[in-house]
Amino acid sequence: MLTATELADMLRQQMTDHGPVSIADYMAAANSVYYASHDPLGRQGDFITSPEISQMFGELIGIWIADLWKRASMPPVHYVELGPGRGTLAGDALRAMRTQGLEPPVHFVETSPLLARLQAEHAPDATWHEGIETLPHDVPLVIVANEFFDALPYRQHIRTYGGWRERMVTYGDEGFASIPGPVPTEEHVPEHLHDATAGSIYETSPAGLAIAAAIGRRLKKQGGAMLAIDYGHEDYYAGDTLQALNAHAYADVFSNPGANDLTAHVHFTALSGAGEVGGARVAGPVSQGYFLGAMGIAARAAALGRRYPDRVEEIGAAHVRLTSEEEMGSLFKVIAMVAPSWPKPAGFIDQTV
Ligand code: SAH
Repeated sequence: MLTATELADMLRQQMTDHGPVSIADYMAAANSVYYASHDPLGRQGDFITSPEISQMFGELIGIWIADLWKRASMPPVHYVELGPGRGTLAGDALRAMRTQGLEPPVHFVETSPLLARLQAEHAPDATWHEGIETLPHDVPLVIVANEFFDALPYRQHIRTYGGWRERMVTYGDEGFASIPGPVPTEEHVPEHLHDATAGSIYETSPAGLAIAAAIGRRLKKQGGAMLAIDYGHEDYYAGDTLQALNAHAYADVFSNPGANDLTAHVHFTALSGAGEVGGARVAGPVSQGYFLGAMGIAARAAALGRRYPDRVEEIGAAHVRLTSEEEMGSLFKVIAMVAPSWPKPAGFIDQTV
């Protein structure tokens, strides 16, 4: 596995020899080195995610799964998590599912060997997969993806005075920097953005959409559901949301590839559209605050507070952090993809399913 310094050397050489690479290729290379060499989560890491804030997050997801499974007449299922991080969410969700009589085999889709080792502490009998293709085909899948789609490679298109072009990464006197590519890319940009002002950026995640469509197909064929939680926006949007995080602070996307966490906002309309094309029904997006509220986070916080009186303040703070509009409650959104043969999921307002 490459270090960040070796990756930078390799990218520099590649750009010198063969010219610029796409933002998506740059992001894929940077994140594969980043996740393979770091535990990015927690206070010592670069960012913190909802399951690392409180056990309530994973528990309510476990309850969401168990409820749907019961109403689907309790078939045998596999629990699947995409990008499980430290495995904290899985640990909490599996414990909550067990209280409801659900103890499925566990499958983790994870590319980082370092994180897989941490995940094994929460689910020693899990099976690890490099991608979704090798997930079992026999029975329904109940899938969870928290902050997974935001870490997949994104393409960016930039409006120049001469029309839309793919945004590329090159290496010059000042290090890595972005430049518009030579080929017009109008066909990848929605029509209403064609005349956007010069400098506008439009992002897509072909890798994320391909996974969403493949999961939609699997759910239609095998049954089951996927709950995806991420930060992002609902509508088509022209803007640069690619960001780099290092030690809980923003860093330059083009400095030190492989040393920072690179993510971009998830485009929920595009993600649900891909799932529907695959054959799943989609509920949401709703805000994370709404979803957790509907799943009973207030009651869970109160129960935990009664059990651990010395932690009441911490539990209350976590409740606020996960649900309030100023914190993670509004920017983070939740969608469910559900097999057409399965019941409606709990936790969503606008039941399109
Ligand atoms: N779900 C966890 C971690 C989010 S970080 C949490 O909420 O805490 C992103 C996770 O996705 C990490 O586990 C990372 O290793 C994994 N990941 C990133 N790119 C991936 C890819 N292409 N395939 C599989 N896993 C990937």
